[in-house]
Amino acid sequence: MLGPPGAGKGTQAERFARDSGVPRISTGDILREAVHLGTPMGKAAKAIMESGRLVSDDVVIGIIRERLSRPDAARGFVLDGFPRTVAQAEALDRLIDGESPLVIVAIDVPEETLVRRLSTRRICQDCGWNATPGAKVCARCGGELVQRRDDDDEVVRERLSVHRIETGPLVAHYRPRATFRSVNGDQPLDDVAKDIVSAVGAALGVQR
Ligand code: AMP
Repeated sequence: MLGPPGAGKGTQAERFARDSGVPRISTGDILREAVHLGTPMGKAAKAIMESGRLVSDDVVIGIIRERLSRPDAARGFVLDGFPRTVAQAEALDRLIDGESPLVIVAIDVPEETLVRRLSTRRICQDCGWNATPGAKVCARCGGELVQRRDDDDEVVRERLSVHRIETGPLVAHYRPRATFRSVNGDQPLDDVAKDIVSAVGAALGVQR
């Protein structure tokens, strides 16, 4: 699932994965957990993530290679936040090596909406779960809700600019594929979710 920060990728990926019975794999979540646990990878990634820039392709490709090799990913998966560069997309093609169709769904949202959403977004301080807008405590563990460190105004601007420069070319890279679809992310959550289900269905139909 592709889309700028704040497009609703995490929420939609989670929902689609749950409804399809496959894991959602988020490189951002895996990296945040590594930072939280203080692993060597987490220590190396912390400052980069806090500045809103991208962690190196080698590191995230390594994360995805390991994660996709686990048994729960054998029947399919939803990728959230990966790939973010053309090099990562090429590595992903090599990793899945034509085994199953790769459906690409890009969620489109105008930049003004993104800035507004990111400045009000909250996550759980304890488990990192994305909070539902307006919620007072974490729906998963009851923990306190806080702003993500990389959601502060200045970092948001940097992340959006990184997205335009580094991730923008990804859409151009994938657009010619028969399994590429884009959906309008600037509508209520349920409508975006329905459009994603139709888009994936249509893209898989093309494959048959
Ligand atoms: P996210 O939760 O997807 O917004 O990711 C948070 C941060 O983790 C990003 O701003 C990057 O610093 C890093 N990150 C996550 N996924 C990737 C990726 N595929 N490539 C490079 N950096 C990533």
